[in-house]
Amino acid sequence: MNEKVIILGAGESGAGAAVLAKKEGFDVFVSDLAAISAKYKTVLDNHGISWEEGKHTKEKILQAGLVIKSPGIPDQVPVIRKLIARDIPILSEIEFAGRYTDATMICITGSNGKTTTTMLTYHILKEAGLDVGLAGNVGNSLALQVVKDPHKVYVIELSSFQLDNMYDFKADIAILLNITPDHLDRYNYEMQKYVDAKFRILQNQTEKDTFIFWNDDPIIAHEVAKRNPKATLYPFALEKKPGVKGYVKDKQIIIETEKGTFTMDQDLLALTGTHNTYNSLASGIAAKVMDIQDENIRESLSDFAGVEHRLEIVARVRGVDYVNDSKATNMNSCWYALQSMNTRVVLILGGTDKGNDYTEIEELVKAKVHALIFLGADNSKLHAFFDGKVPQIEDASSMEEAVKKAYKLAAKGDTVLLSPCCASFDLFKNYEDRGNQFKECVRNL
Ligand code: ADP
Repeated sequence: MNEKVIILGAGESGAGAAVLAKKEGFDVFVSDLAAISAKYKTVLDNHGISWEEGKHTKEKILQAGLVIKSPGIPDQVPVIRKLIARDIPILSEIEFAGRYTDATMICITGSNGKTTTTMLTYHILKEAGLDVGLAGNVGNSLALQVVKDPHKVYVIELSSFQLDNMYDFKADIAILLNITPDHLDRYNYEMQKYVDAKFRILQNQTEKDTFIFWNDDPIIAHEVAKRNPKATLYPFALEKKPGVKGYVKDKQIIIETEKGTFTMDQDLLALTGTHNTYNSLASGIAAKVMDIQDENIRESLSDFAGVEHRLEIVARVRGVDYVNDSKATNMNSCWYALQSMNTRVVLILGGTDKGNDYTEIEELVKAKVHALIFLGADNSKLHAFFDGKVPQIEDASSMEEAVKKAYKLAAKGDTVLLSPCCASFDLFKNYEDRGNQFKECVRNL
């Protein structure tokens, strides 16, 4: 009899993993505790894969020889605990799919900037004519591409949850952008566990592989010193220091590799803000290591259209720029958004607070923001912190109200910035819904 593969969670990664497992001849069953979307039901049905929704039938699941788990399912849930107790191997979709391809893997992780850097790296390689696929948290699952649309190179966004269940997979090029506290509820509130998950991106790397990382991140620096990675190291930073391979000097982006030195005017980078200089350095190093020609790297770093909901310029209305940074769901990303502003700012923030300490942005708010609009179901924590520190503060309970108030408070030359520091679930479906509502309200002004 064929080995039983059980897929837990039938989203993009689960459905893709199921199709790949079926093709490889496994006996596949998919189980999702929630409802499975019509799109993925069709995919499973079309491949003759059996599934259940709204439940996990333990008797079936515990017969597995191998389990592929959606990154959304925590280890603490009963069915996973039982599988762990029985020593049944649990893999992530990327680990599983990685077994059936020998493509070059460029993998990107970090607490912030993953999607941007993934898309930017993909853009450079694609425009340079490489046969490249986009996978991980963005695009189609790696597993589905391996079956239906295989590529020679993949650029993969990896969350810590994907990395948690990766063992034999190897990133030929690993990028680690930064590490700040996030998702600690999934790591028993132990920061080191989250850090260890991120560092799984280095697993199995040899001296032939590449590790690109932000040199000035204190956590990364500490871990690199401790772990002494085997791969060739490409640290990047704003300033050149010994060992740093990607940096800025006299407003020039400089990347030094064995394959020569790449240079480019910093002003030509499509993505603005210090955080995006880091992202551009990381992508540029990866491209250079991949032997992409300098002209191609320069062109793509300067014509990249950006990613929706990340410092996305929406419109200029009566001399005021409106910027959608709805994806800024934590303090660090809002800090970088504010830091990148060159005008006076009306800041819309608020939502579901994940334990924020607003002192992190206090200085930037005082320096740049003349009006704050709190957009959340409960704004009391924001008032307690900011009242008296900013000239004007208003509350809003819908995006329409927030944008109308921002419109009144903004003066010519200002920027109205939606960079909420918080999750969106109190008033919106998700951050995309929040960003889309913002854009619609701005366009209706
Ligand atoms: P992720 O996929 O890791 O969530 P995104 O690229 O979607 O990252 O960006 C999320 C938020 O973080 C955005 O608000 C963006 O402006 C901000 N951001 C992007 N890159 C960085 C970085 N290198 N450091 C800190 N913040 C960043």
